[in-house]
Amino acid sequence: MLNIRKSLPDSVKLMAVVKANGYGHGDIESAAAAEQAGADYLAVAYLEEAIRLRDAGMKLPILVLTPIRPELTPLALKLDLSLTVASAKWLADVRVYKPFASAGKLRIHVKMDTGLGRIGIRTKREWDELVPWLRAEDVEVDGFYTHFATAGQADTAFLERQTARFAEMKEWGRSSGLTIRHYHCAGSAAALRFPHLAMDMVRIGAAMYGFYPEQLVRSVKLEPALSLHSRLIHVKKLAKGDYLGYGNSYRADEDEWIGTVPIGYADGWTQRMQGTEVLIEGQRAPIVGKICMDQLMIKLPGPCADGALVTLIGLQGEQRITFAELAAHIGNVAQEISASLGPRVARTYTDTEEVHARWDNQIRRNEFKQAVV
Ligand SMILES: *Cc1c(COP(=O)(O)O)cnc(C)c1O
Repeated sequence: MLNIRKSLPDSVKLMAVVKANGYGHGDIESAAAAEQAGADYLAVAYLEEAIRLRDAGMKLPILVLTPIRPELTPLALKLDLSLTVASAKWLADVRVYKPFASAGKLRIHVKMDTGLGRIGIRTKREWDELVPWLRAEDVEVDGFYTHFATAGQADTAFLERQTARFAEMKEWGRSSGLTIRHYHCAGSAAALRFPHLAMDMVRIGAAMYGFYPEQLVRSVKLEPALSLHSRLIHVKKLAKGDYLGYGNSYRADEDEWIGTVPIGYADGWTQRMQGTEVLIEGQRAPIVGKICMDQLMIKLPGPCADGALVTLIGLQGEQRITFAELAAHIGNVAQEISASLGPRVARTYTDTEEVHARWDNQIRRNEFKQAVV
């Protein structure tokens, strides 16, 4: 994150995206690390996530990227959050719970839909309906933003279309006479590939955890922050023809050694990981049989010791299981894998003594019962 901060002009603000438990890495720890690295803002998807950060004592401005339920606006105001508005109706509904001229400012980031088709204002008419609500004395338009659909892809045609549309929309903003503090559009891929898209602020999620479109961005070198290890809890020998797993999903074609690993689909290691490998004793070993809720079985290279280290992501000896290979296997980006890691997977942190000292109470909350190291 420090490298990302250093790569940006001082005038560009850095918003660290710590939604989904910091893409699985721990929300509070990720937010604290981002703050230390010079982040100006935090972003989360949902109000619940912002509450956790404020409870932990986080003082940075926090943007909630998804419109909250209007009736929760008083709580959001109390927590000093910045809210996303994606329609005039939402802001009108909010007025039931935050009457005009009542105490407190509504800090708003207006979301524009330039082609992702998820949330946001798409047409000039929708914008014109929203503007009068934005003119209220107690509304601060802190931001005006959009999000790209293809920023991590080699073909830039659609990104250019979205950029052009956003330029038109920025003119709507400028000509409205509203004071708009920050125009922003770039997530990790766009910010790293196209520095001119940084505008007033970048919203960095994936790259802060070491995920980025490596084949497209050669100027930075980022390492994934996370590795995942477990230990064998059981070792046995199957005879040729023996079955294994629910539904007899695997049958030994020879006498073979099998190890059981205490991680399963409830921890985010879903059936889609079938066909991938793990590392044990510095060698690759395939997952065999259906992955269970709490355990999975692997075909061992030989009679390994109970308690032997199993690496599901990261380096062991000379071998490495990369996020890239797992992501390619499931047909999605690396962050789907990290963000799916469940609360039973204990997180341990390195190089964060200062963070630990400061966030001790919160980190203890994140110690879970399962002995996945
Ligand atoms: C998740 C998210 C981001 C972060 O994107 P990365 O590609 O992970 O950097 C930025 N903006 C919005 C609106 C998001 O939902």
